[in-house]
Amino acid sequence: MKILLDERELRQGVQRLAAEVNRHYDGAPLTIIGVLTGSVVLLADLIRLLEMPLRVGVVQASSYRGGTEAGELSIQADFMPDIEARHVLLVDDIFDTGNTLVEVVKLVEALQPASVATLVLLRKTGRQRVSYEPDFVGFDIPDEFVVGYGLDYADAYRNLNYLAALEPEDLDRKF
Ligand code: 5GP
Ligand code: MG
Repeated sequence: MKILLDERELRQGVQRLAAEVNRHYDGAPLTIIGVLTGSVVLLADLIRLLEMPLRVGVVQASSYRGGTEAGELSIQADFMPDIEARHVLLVDDIFDTGNTLVEVVKLVEALQPASVATLVLLRKTGRQRVSYEPDFVGFDIPDEFVVGYGLDYADAYRNLNYLAALEPEDLDRKF
């Protein structure tokens, strides 16, 4: 594995994102919705740096079925809080093709929030297949499959406190 962002760089990135979000909402109440499972580490670090009255919910979206290729997207929204007339910020780990976030935004917009914005820790260069862009982006990274800081490969590596790109020999490992 090759380290792309170490613990200190990730912390600085999250601090930068939190400062932008605090400035943007300027004290207005906010509902943050994390897209499970990849956003859990970011969510925990980010919300503790936010200064407005905050509610937190989650929605589960999964498209990666064990490997590095995207399968069919499924969204499980049973645990989403009531967001009608509230400002909503969707938080995801990574913006790759963009399909996941675009679908979750559609789902949230149908519930008539006051506004919907999106934040991602990572955006992969040259991969997007949608015209949508996230409102807040932590880091632009090269087109490599990354793990750590919440991101997994076959459900492993989410607990790494750094972000690493997998190399071919890592893909053959069994857990
Ligand atoms: P998209 O719908 O934008 O193509 O994909 C978004 C989702 O795919 C992310 O929330 C994440 O779960 C997964 N994903 C995309 N790229 C990567 C990657 O490089 N590593 C990991 N672990 N997951 C990824
Ligand atoms: Mg995800």
